Amino acid sequence: SAEEVTAAYLETIAKSSINGYTCTYDGAIEMAKEADKGEGEGLLAGVPIAIKDNISTKGLSTTCSSKILEGYVPPYDAHVIERLKAEGAVILGKTNMDEFAMGTSTESSCYGVTLNPWDTERVPGGSSGGSAAVVAAGEAPISLGSDTGGSVRCPAAFCGVVGLKPTYGAVSRFGLISYANSLEQIGPMATCVEDIATVMDVIGGHDPRDSTSIDREVNYRDALVDDVKGLKIGVPDEYFGEGVDEGVEKAVWDAIGKYEEMGATWEKVSMPHTKYALAAYYTIAMSEASSNLARFDGTRYGPRHDGENWHVMASRTRAECFGKEVQRRVLLGTYALSAGYQDKYYLKALKVRTLVKQDFEKALSNVDVLMGPTMPMPAFKIGEKVEDPLSLYLSDVNTVPMNLSGVPCISVPCGLSDGLPVGLQIIGKQYDEATIMRAAYAFE
Ligand code: GLN
Repeated sequence: SAEEVTAAYLETIAKSSINGYTCTYDGAIEMAKEADKGEGEGLLAGVPIAIKDNISTKGLSTTCSSKILEGYVPPYDAHVIERLKAEGAVILGKTNMDEFAMGTSTESSCYGVTLNPWDTERVPGGSSGGSAAVVAAGEAPISLGSDTGGSVRCPAAFCGVVGLKPTYGAVSRFGLISYANSLEQIGPMATCVEDIATVMDVIGGHDPRDSTSIDREVNYRDALVDDVKGLKIGVPDEYFGEGVDEGVEKAVWDAIGKYEEMGATWEKVSMPHTKYALAAYYTIAMSEASSNLARFDGTRYGPRHDGENWHVMASRTRAECFGKEVQRRVLLGTYALSAGYQDKYYLKALKVRTLVKQDFEKALSNVDVLMGPTMPMPAFKIGEKVEDPLSLYLSDVNTVPMNLSGVPCISVPCGLSDGLPVGLQIIGKQYDEATIMRAAYAFE
């Protein structure tokens, strides 16, 4: 029964040592009992799911792994949570993440890092590290993450699971606590593509409460056709640039070779603006973050550090409760948006964004999908990059261009490098999740 399954997961979570969850849901068993009463009604009836801690859950702590939201319990559910509940899913708990989704390793969480189940001395990737690690460790069959610049795909690659970033607008962001709203999407993580498609059938679709939500009917499970004959794959040289680990490169080329054996063809394509994508991404993401995080000032949510007036109170609260990385980004973003500098940084970045988008449109007009490594390297050691934020930012080279352009992309496990999982990234045309999921499904 759903009750037994849920109880078994909760027991496994209680014994866990990877620190994947920020909290478990004490109503989980009740939800499972309800699902049992409904006798399998709903697409996810009785299926347990773990939720990233930046997705609002009514009655259940939602902190973005930040001290500034300590004790915050949302009075409403995000759109995706409403949809999951309507289809009978059981919420297991909230998962650990980089503070406000800013990071690539889950090391900036106020709850401490999550350990990679493949090697507990290594990071699980980020920022949705908890969501990927709990699926990899068998502490949840499926989870939700969010992807602003790779935060679903990176941890999926590092933990050896499947992770999808849908087309911008395919999943409502209502109730997702914004980091950089023009870039991010909620996306599912699971051990197989079929589960990804099922979750998408539940959470995808129009929601009038998100003005960027697309009004399109899609059946994601229809895409699961085990046939890639005639599929045209584009391989951008730029995704195999400097710093790509040899083992990663080999695993990805082996995967492309397998597609050829299955009847697909591949050709090289050019994405000339890829080298500017990272700088544009960080300028835009930090600018949006500086504005989005202005609401956390000790007035409405979380703890307050008092002062003689509002200014002192707000700045004390923010200085005490935001971590180092969040403060760095708010400062840089404020600078990039300030009078006199806006044209030089923010507007320039927006222009580069358009060029990157055009690269995708051009490349994808001749081929069906693009393929390359999700991450340039396998999971790195905990602590290895904490003192060097730039080297952390650099590891996002292959994941941020897709968020700038809005196209859908999926990371699927494609082998090992030095005993650690490698992710193959498959990228598709705007709204064409069907083709990338078909490609990923055939590869499994
Ligand atoms: N690593 C990227 C960043 O720090 C992406 C994070 C994300 O997708 N939320 O911004």
